[in-house]
Amino acid sequence: MSADRPARVQTVLGSIAPDALGPTLMHEHVLCDIRRPAQRTPEALGPELALDNVWAINYGTVKRAARNYLLDARDVAIDELRHMLEAGGRSVVDLSSGGLSPDPLGLVEIARATGAHIVMGAGHYVHDYQDAANAARDAEDFAEEMVEQIEDGAWGTDVRAGILGEIGCQAPWTAQERRVMLGAVLAQRQTGAAINVHPGRHPDQPQEVADFIRVKGGRMDRVIVSHIDRTIFDAERLHRLADTGCVLEWDLFGQESSFYPLSDIDMPNDAVRLRAIRGLIGRGHLAQVLISHDICYRSRLVRWGGHGYGHIFANVVPMMRRRGFSESEIQAILVDNPRRLLTIGGD
Ligand SMILES: [Zn+2]
Repeated sequence: MSADRPARVQTVLGSIAPDALGPTLMHEHVLCDIRRPAQRTPEALGPELALDNVWAINYGTVKRAARNYLLDARDVAIDELRHMLEAGGRSVVDLSSGGLSPDPLGLVEIARATGAHIVMGAGHYVHDYQDAANAARDAEDFAEEMVEQIEDGAWGTDVRAGILGEIGCQAPWTAQERRVMLGAVLAQRQTGAAINVHPGRHPDQPQEVADFIRVKGGRMDRVIVSHIDRTIFDAERLHRLADTGCVLEWDLFGQESSFYPLSDIDMPNDAVRLRAIRGLIGRGHLAQVLISHDICYRSRLVRWGGHGYGHIFANVVPMMRRRGFSESEIQAILVDNPRRLLTIGGD
């Protein structure tokens, strides 16, 4: 059981001291396949990305660009994480859970080649991406699988996960997704690991999930609600969610286009994200804020003209300073909060 083991962070190369984590991106995908299951055929890959089509692909005017949603090349991932290290990042959390083609051995190779700390997620993404066999499984069965992924190894390997998630939810929330979420709460009770929630796109869905986790006995200070930047656009909902004690994650930094194919929203840019975070800090919620890029498209990588995993360190941190964030606030968001959330055992 984890409780009698020392406080540690579980990376894909083994446990490290929490203080070794340093500046950490809490929601990324290093290796991932986020094509819809029906799109996963070689004939549907679409064009190679190039200078004369990448803007149009990003703006959604190239309809068949499935290749963009496939991060499967280890050599590319190694180059990209080196950009993060050069910009001042040290660690990255890969939340490619079940349905997103998790690749523990690929992460091991990338961690060895780059020296970056990589923490891997556990559990399952949204219903539409899950294995059909999950329909017959109950919450206890999902919990048992997630505990095993944290304590012994995941996806047929001995590589251990270090966080539960991203656990996928849609709006409306499906019964199967609720069973996976309850499984995550049960697995948290046993392992102490934090839970990362991918909420559905309705603005009330994050609260629905947070309330469910609280009622089921989850530790709210170890629950992270992802994708706030595409889900919640008013202070009332934001403050209500923060008042549950959960951690709020703005994880689409670098995505600044008006085009967002998955729902009809006004996607904020980085400056607007920082303004929302500033407001939350002003209300006393500094320990509940995380930022990341949630990179899962090729077009967001440096190789294909994108901002890459270094963007927050190279560009957003200087913007935070210009906007009056103190060094200790920046340190809390990029180092202290991730370290607290990724530390398991020792209690
Ligand atoms: Zn997500």
